[in-house]
Amino acid sequence: MAGTKTFTMIKPDATGAGHTGKIIDRIIGAGFSLKAMKLTQLTREDAESFYAVHRERPFFGELVEYMTSGPIVAAILEKDNAVEDFRTLIGATNPAEAAEGTIRKEFAESIAANAVHGSDSDENAAIEGAFFFSTRETV
Ligand code: UDP
Ligand code: MG
Repeated sequence: MAGTKTFTMIKPDATGAGHTGKIIDRIIGAGFSLKAMKLTQLTREDAESFYAVHRERPFFGELVEYMTSGPIVAAILEKDNAVEDFRTLIGATNPAEAAEGTIRKEFAESIAANAVHGSDSDENAAIEGAFFFSTRETV
């Protein structure tokens, strides 16, 4: 059975462009509820650790540079079928391929600066949520 939690970040391009409120509004409007949320900025060590699975990919250096370039908003979200439904809401990694009406179609600048993160599995949702939040910081 699919899990009820996912993890997201609003990435530096979107926070820097003033899109934070509009993106949170879209997420809540799609039926997700907030279980934890914080504004923070990743250190290089944080970004390298969070994206360790991509360490061998050619874009890893740029990804770390970009993700440390400004504030991010991290959040744990709840909804039935959370991981899959959130991936549908945000759209394809490359905004040029993202469907109409998706968050990346509307707000992303490029394949790297693509406005939002969404976990790709229930297992990673739990790992990524725990990377940012303790149980005490989760409602
Ligand atoms: N990324 C990039 N260039 C690429 C592919 C990905 O800069 O060719 C960045 C982009 O910010 C993406 C992140 O690396 O969101 C993680 O990539 P992944 O394939 O996991 O995409 P996602 O799950 O975020 O859609
Ligand atoms: Mg991914």
